[in-house]
Amino acid sequence: MSKLLEIRDLKVKYGNIEALHGVSLYVDKGEIVTLIGANGAGKSTTLMSISRLPPPEAPKVIEGDILYDGQSLLDWVPDKIVADLHLALVPEGRRIFGNLSVEENLRLATYARKDTPTDVERDYKRVYSLFPRLHERRKQQSESLSGGEQQMLAVGRALMSGCTFIMLDEPSMGLAPLLMYDMFRALKELNREGMTILLIEQNANLALKFADRGYVIDTGEIVAQGPSDQLMDDPEVKKAYLGG
Ligand code: ATP
Repeated sequence: MSKLLEIRDLKVKYGNIEALHGVSLYVDKGEIVTLIGANGAGKSTTLMSISRLPPPEAPKVIEGDILYDGQSLLDWVPDKIVADLHLALVPEGRRIFGNLSVEENLRLATYARKDTPTDVERDYKRVYSLFPRLHERRKQQSESLSGGEQQMLAVGRALMSGCTFIMLDEPSMGLAPLLMYDMFRALKELNREGMTILLIEQNANLALKFADRGYVIDTGEIVAQGPSDQLMDDPEVKKAYLGG
């Protein structure tokens, strides 16, 4: 395995506020890695820095680097990161087009793809087989989907962009247990087929059971890291994040 994504000593500011104080982490090809931490610890900021996605007020990299396949992403724009590097983010809050149908949302996500229509067709089938609910509701206006179904659609859109590395911002948020199970089972299946996954979660129990390795972030700093089973046995991590 090789380091596919590597963040080196990343310091990020919003205006005058430093949100990340030197975060370093890496993800190998084919791994599932999770970044866990409390509200406001800097999880979303880390993902947005990687995908170069401008939130209302963009986080600005002050120091450090973000490398993908050995090249720095700092000068890249979000669209190119998805289209050329196949690295996609499923942001918190889903950001789907509510007035469009499920199918239209999925189709829109393919606009920048450079591969063949056959590849795109294969991915439609894949999304619908992973999430049969989306197939059942493909003509339905997206805003009328349940929260869990919208989350599935958000993941489906990332898959339709042709990604090979998917970053997920709290996919369990607001999901009923059964839908949560479906979601994580689908992600596991994608990983078995070669998808690399970086998952951020407040639900540390869930995330560590799912991931190969994890990092714990606390107020902008990585305070623990290691294989998931090791983190689940760590007394400090247990006390602070796993309910004792
Ligand atoms: P949550 O789960 O609540 O989203 P998080 O771990 O993802 O938490 P971030 O959203 O990355 O945390 O926030 C990290 C820090 O940066 C927090 O102190 C937050 O208040 C601050 N922050 C986030 N977005 C902005 C912004 N647009 N402008 C200013 N400060 C921000």
